[in-house]
Amino acid sequence: MSATQSRQDGLADEISRIVPPEIEISDAVYEGPELVVYTTTPEKFGDNPGIIREIAVQLEKQITIRPDPDIRASESDAEAIIQQLVPEQAGITNIDFHPETSELFIEAERPGMVIGRGATTLQQITTKTGWDAEVLRTPPLESSTVRSVRDFLTYEREERRDVLQRIGRQIHRPSTASERYVRVTALGCAHEVGRAAFVLDTGETRILVDCGDKPGSDDTPYLQVPEGITADAHTIDAVVLTHAHLDHSALLPLLYKYGYDGPVYCTQPTRDLMGLLLLDYLKVAGKQGRTPPYESRDVKEALKHTITLDYDTITEIAPDIRITMKNAGHVLGSAVTHFNINDGETGMVFSGDIHYEDTKLFNGAVNQFPSADGLIMESTYGGDNDTQADQATAEEELKRIINETYQQGGKVLIPAFAVGRSQEIMLVLEEAMRNGDIPEIPVHLDGMIWEATAIHTAYPEYLRDEVRERIFQHGDNPFLHPSFNHIDGGDDERQRVVDGGPAIILTTSGMMTGGPIMSWIRYLAADPASTLAFVGYQADGTLGRQIQRGEREIEVETLQSGRGGAQRVTVELNMGVETVNGFSGHADRAGLMNFVSGMAPKPGKVMCVHGDPGSVTEFSRAIRQEVGVPAEAPRNLETVRFDRPK
Ligand code: ZN
Repeated sequence: MSATQSRQDGLADEISRIVPPEIEISDAVYEGPELVVYTTTPEKFGDNPGIIREIAVQLEKQITIRPDPDIRASESDAEAIIQQLVPEQAGITNIDFHPETSELFIEAERPGMVIGRGATTLQQITTKTGWDAEVLRTPPLESSTVRSVRDFLTYEREERRDVLQRIGRQIHRPSTASERYVRVTALGCAHEVGRAAFVLDTGETRILVDCGDKPGSDDTPYLQVPEGITADAHTIDAVVLTHAHLDHSALLPLLYKYGYDGPVYCTQPTRDLMGLLLLDYLKVAGKQGRTPPYESRDVKEALKHTITLDYDTITEIAPDIRITMKNAGHVLGSAVTHFNINDGETGMVFSGDIHYEDTKLFNGAVNQFPSADGLIMESTYGGDNDTQADQATAEEELKRIINETYQQGGKVLIPAFAVGRSQEIMLVLEEAMRNGDIPEIPVHLDGMIWEATAIHTAYPEYLRDEVRERIFQHGDNPFLHPSFNHIDGGDDERQRVVDGGPAIILTTSGMMTGGPIMSWIRYLAADPASTLAFVGYQADGTLGRQIQRGEREIEVETLQSGRGGAQRVTVELNMGVETVNGFSGHADRAGLMNFVSGMAPKPGKVMCVHGDPGSVTEFSRAIRQEVGVPAEAPRNLETVRFDRPK
């Protein structure tokens, strides 16, 4: 939007009337949910504490103050001012200038030292340079994903600014609906696990919550129905993504291929993990000879339209909707999302996937909200007999397996999902070594695990209190333990590990459906001293499940290129096989029930989704009986209404 157009909107004038006369407002434009206010007197904002809040309250908007481009220092002068203000120990690794918006991004190993006590240093940088300074963490483990997502957004910044301004006008449009209601339709993920996609419809606005694939199947969400997106890409106003797992995110880029050009709201780690998983999704599809439904440019479109939110920040995403994301305890950045509809008239909660108890890695899911007329609730382990071992038992079991295998002189091979369970196991191993419960032996990380871990190190704010404090207060990052080794030398390095002494190997894929685990199993299968230890769910039809069921003659496909392509070899499995229960990223039945029964306020009505038919049916019945609120388990394409009768 040009200055003239914003003048027409009268926003800058309106703000000028609110602030004291010595503050000069030169422009005001919407960028996504925020109202960006440009000023030629940024230092005056520092002299008038509380004035930003005053504007926010009077206009009921989220306000960002930026210095007017006319008054800012040159890039080299600004850099010199920053070096002078910020102590060297902050470890600045990169400074990025965005002249179009007067923004300046400082990447540092210790962002806290750039921000300063009470954000004073950061404020000084803004006043003295005339640039709006923001700080990003340089991950201590270098992450190519974090790097390329940040680089991409920098590269696309001009187009991104246009996107944000267009979205901003959409959000702040006048409300036009004459009839209001709140209803939710399942486009997938009802009576099944996978292809999560729900439409929240308020009469004024339609929000799509998640858009995933169904692992092990070609089924996609029902996007072709009228409230879907295939026929009219502008049916949907915004997408909210609860977390990065592919059964929630895989088909987001498809929306852009269909012409959708609205925003995706999620947390910052979800954005980065989504980038990693979606590009890998395309790579795997290519390797398996499948034609993926979209291309990498559609992934980039999705990233370009992504607006990240911090936990517990209220954000206006439509004239009638404000959302707040809260920790879900499931994977890095996963969110339980609260929707405040029509100024608090109706409150809706989407659980996404949750873990209710604390784990080593995350605090347990939040279940306190300002309102909750409806709850859309995951029910993966909602069946009457779905119990899991507790965390402590699971840890003891894993340590026993490691110690026994070590005494036999063998290696422990653990298939694990790259995102979530691997980092949980890493923290368990690190603690066990620190306490002397297991010997200090190398832990090799193979496949996408290293990169996913590096993304975790970029966002310690999202980790469990204890881990965060260790990192922030004591500079002691468990992911940097010297025993952790990145396997980046392919089969040569794997062979060296196999020929070497005792070791633990954590590798993808988690269900033994492909990936480097296939190389490891060929190397280690014959060794009776070694142990294959399952720590996660093994779905029907996967090699992992076959082995759990007792199969010992296994067919392994090698994906070596060259003449003949993939070859199949049969190997005899002589290594020990163990299963450790209790490391799931999901709450079990008791955890799910505790989430609902302890929820404040009590939900008005519950819709049970994300579970097999038995799980959703049994869990909804249990909620009716034990919590005493209406609960149902609709099928795909059914709609449930949640607003209170007037
Ligand atoms: Zn998940």
